[in-house]
Amino acid sequence: MDIFKKCFNYDETDEVKAMGLYPYSHALESAQDIEVIMEGKREIMVGSNNYLGLTNDERVIRASIEAIKKFGTGVSGSRFLNGTLTLHLQLEKEIAEFLNKEATLTFSSGFQTNLGIIAAIATRNDVIFSDRENHASIYDGIKLSYASVSRYKHNNMLDLEKKLQETPTDKGKIIITDGIFSMSGDIANLPEIVRLGKLYNARIMVDDAHSLGVLGECGRGTAEYFGLEDDVDIIMGTFSKSLASLGGHVSAKKEVIEYIKHKSRPYIYSASIPPSNAAATLEALRILKSDPSLPKKLLDITLYMRKALEKRGVKVAGNVGSPIIPIYTYSLLRTLVACKILFDKGVYVNPVVPPASPEGECMIRTSYTATHTKELMDEAASIIADVLNGLPDQDDDILTLWRNYYE
Ligand code: PMP
Repeated sequence: MDIFKKCFNYDETDEVKAMGLYPYSHALESAQDIEVIMEGKREIMVGSNNYLGLTNDERVIRASIEAIKKFGTGVSGSRFLNGTLTLHLQLEKEIAEFLNKEATLTFSSGFQTNLGIIAAIATRNDVIFSDRENHASIYDGIKLSYASVSRYKHNNMLDLEKKLQETPTDKGKIIITDGIFSMSGDIANLPEIVRLGKLYNARIMVDDAHSLGVLGECGRGTAEYFGLEDDVDIIMGTFSKSLASLGGHVSAKKEVIEYIKHKSRPYIYSASIPPSNAAATLEALRILKSDPSLPKKLLDITLYMRKALEKRGVKVAGNVGSPIIPIYTYSLLRTLVACKILFDKGVYVNPVVPPASPEGECMIRTSYTATHTKELMDEAASIIADVLNGLPDQDDDILTLWRNYYE
């Protein structure tokens, strides 16, 4: 049998493409910012993870260009061998200092960071307790490890405790959770996770991809937000969101970092972060350190938008402190139609549909940036309310509406 048969027969997206509803890999013709150009027209961007608005910041761009001039465009090797620059070491030093951890190690993406940490530290006699809504990279890291996995219901501490209780005491244990969950925008119940970790002798790892630069007064993430910085063993984060670049980090005690450094395959066998990205990350981090008002600005604009949507009759979900505001649209058709009409009217949002959401629990994921203005948010909220409030409940009616609209 031809191994490519499944590719040639793949038709899952044909129908939505034929209907003009395919939403993925839609190209930007301008920089990632609060307003962007797509298909030649202006879109208000409420679908990016550019939380601090630094992706198009003059200072970050300058630092990146200077690094290319000094170090060239690539590293042509892994951190382990020829691909370590003084820039990487400086970045690791400053991240560790910022997060009050003993040491930091960087990887070429956030995804690789999770693969690299989990597969290195969790082995045959270990059990990983993982929230069911954790990011795909945590799922894949677990698959790559030889540990057993125990998935607990999303943010459900009773279920987590039950699973910890059932696990033999001689197993190595680690609880892994997203700090802010990427789709629902929920914030992990870290105080309870820490309590259970201590009670059942389990280590704790937090994925702060969406919380670095976002949660806590200084933007140090979920542990700072809850005042639990000494109680989280491993913090991972990505540079592709608040820090306006690409790459990821793991921060922990120096012995843990030293171990990961020598056991982690994505660290050893994959080329390191290019100079331009390492320098951009470092500059964004320095901006965050020198201007701790940025996370507060992000929180303020998100709260403003939450109210602006509610005032216009849009039901929103998620945690109040999080920069992700999900709006449930339930059915796949309703979600795709909503996203496309919103796009046509000038608001870019992301659809969350299976497998990223359970069947029937689709949503529109909106996310915010510290540099969004109230005027822009009012404009976006009015368009979102107009579109969503005008959509019928039943799929049959939505189909009719869409056909009339599309033709
Ligand atoms: N963890 C979480 C929670 C994420 O949302 C993401 C990316 N969306 C990652 C890890 C991976 O990060 P990156 O995109 O930098 O590879």
